[in-house]
Amino acid sequence: MKTVNIAIDGPAGAGKSTIAKMVSAQLGYIYVDTGALYRTIALYVNENGITDENIAQALSGADVSLKFIDGKQCVFLGDRDVSDLIRTPVISMEASRVSAIPAVREYLFETQRKIARENNVIMDGRDIGTVVLPDADVKIFLTASAQERANRRYKELSEKPSCPCYEEILSDIIERDKNDMNRKTAPLKQAEDAVLVDTSELSLEESAEAIRKIIAEKLDGRAE
Ligand code: C5P
Repeated sequence: MKTVNIAIDGPAGAGKSTIAKMVSAQLGYIYVDTGALYRTIALYVNENGITDENIAQALSGADVSLKFIDGKQCVFLGDRDVSDLIRTPVISMEASRVSAIPAVREYLFETQRKIARENNVIMDGRDIGTVVLPDADVKIFLTASAQERANRRYKELSEKPSCPCYEEILSDIIERDKNDMNRKTAPLKQAEDAVLVDTSELSLEESAEAIRKIIAEKLDGRAE
């Protein structure tokens, strides 16, 4: 039976993962965070001192995989669960850099497609509606102003011991947006048939409600 595929793309910090998690839990779909795959490649590159010149060759030894444990996504590098290790500002920036390398995108392409073929998914990323799942049943482009996204990230991080300052977070977000939108391969952009949702003025619950409505309309009852 054909699976239902929902693509949510957008810049860093637009709320994709939080909202996609909420909505997928309600629908009973698997939530796939594709950024974790790029982050894991970044970790692999960092840990092994791999240069851009030999990255294509080195990828065959990377062994990156996703496992869904009680519905929660865990990302593995070999047999190591690196789900927490990849959530640092250094890895965020490195992921943005390595994701521009075509060999990296090619390497992760089939992993993403296979999950979508085998499961009903909400998959979030930068190129899901444009490249990975061009035939997705629903495509959403979720965005918010850079200032609002930095604000949210700052609030999230301010409880942690080594929180970067707001200005630092904002400048990281602006730099990552620039990298993601301007790379040659699979740049971040709205698919022509994607619905744009700007969450700058919306609460989390309002954003999730907007997404649920779009999905219900597009699937016309199929999500139930
Ligand atoms: O979504 P997240 O911020 O965790 O992604 C980390 C980085 O991985 C992004 O800045 C982007 O460069 C890259 N990425 C990508 N394509 C995706 C998902 C993430 O290029 N589908």
